[in-house]
Amino acid sequence: MLWGCMTILTLISRPSLRRLVGQSRSCGTVVAQAAGGGGKFPKLSRVLEDRGIEVQQRGNSMKAKCPFHGNGQERTPSLAINDEKGLYHCFSCEASGNVAGFVAEYEGVGYSEAMDLLCREYGLVRSRPANGAPQTQAQREAAERRERTRKLLEAATAFYVAALSRPEGAACMQMLRERKVSAQSAHIFRLGFSPSAGQPPLSQHLLSLGFRQDELIDVGLAYRREGSASLVDRFRARLMIPIASAAGDIVGFGARVVPPDEGGGAKYLNSRDSPIFKKGSLLFGLPHARRAARAKDQVVLVEGYMDVIALHAAGIAHAVGCLGTAISEEQLRLAASLSPSATVILALDADAEGSQ
Ligand SMILES: [Zn+2]
Repeated sequence: MLWGCMTILTLISRPSLRRLVGQSRSCGTVVAQAAGGGGKFPKLSRVLEDRGIEVQQRGNSMKAKCPFHGNGQERTPSLAINDEKGLYHCFSCEASGNVAGFVAEYEGVGYSEAMDLLCREYGLVRSRPANGAPQTQAQREAAERRERTRKLLEAATAFYVAALSRPEGAACMQMLRERKVSAQSAHIFRLGFSPSAGQPPLSQHLLSLGFRQDELIDVGLAYRREGSASLVDRFRARLMIPIASAAGDIVGFGARVVPPDEGGGAKYLNSRDSPIFKKGSLLFGLPHARRAARAKDQVVLVEGYMDVIALHAAGIAHAVGCLGTAISEEQLRLAASLSPSATVILALDADAEGSQ
């Protein structure tokens, strides 16, 4: 059914992608410290090896097959690695940069997200911004706010997931069964349910965990009814679909109405745009698809959440979704960056609304 409505096959070449992304990466100094101080990123060669790229010692230098051109299948390794300086350079495609730059390019994320990925992967605490300058008070506060937001959205996801398996989630569960969404898929994508009116709301739960009203409002999970001091949950009686950033943090939700409430309000609601949730620069399922997209060297871009979940369940794990909106250039760039040769298959539905 899904493949019947595929309309476009688009290949974006790596050079043109580079022009879109911008090639240069600044070479920061030590940018992270282990908790307790003193640590830094592991050697570049180790970061490559941890990604399944073989590093060969050649005299005093190290080389690897460059993953950024020719599908990583070149015969003679042309990626030179300098562990001492933490730099790489490809003599063929001229890709070059430092450890975080490598991860950004390889994982298809921004430089800052690559730093976060590295810190998480190697148990480091990020202590300085990307340019290596000491962190200011304002930057520290911004980092703390981001961390609280991350925890808030994580707590909201856990709340929705728990509600799905309680009696109030029964109709939502039934809808998933009818759509052949398995318990495993629900678990992988952390699907949940936002309770209906009359059931304990999310906002009450989050406030009890110590989050503030303004924090809930800022991420679009609740709003204040006019003339009232108390909060109202924005998402009610809906299937909740968490949407993660490229770095894997939940940044917002897609929410589908659950029968028998069909017709009451929009079928799909997304978190509203905020500094951390920008619909046009997110792809649903990206963290889940990254590995398969690299292995298959292509990514399938579809419109709907349920399409992505169905494709993954069918073994097509290199599928991502564009949040039910028109595809933006940023989303296309992000999708292309998941595949070494930047191959994107657009599998668009002529009637996206209908398929969901
Ligand atoms: Zn190369």
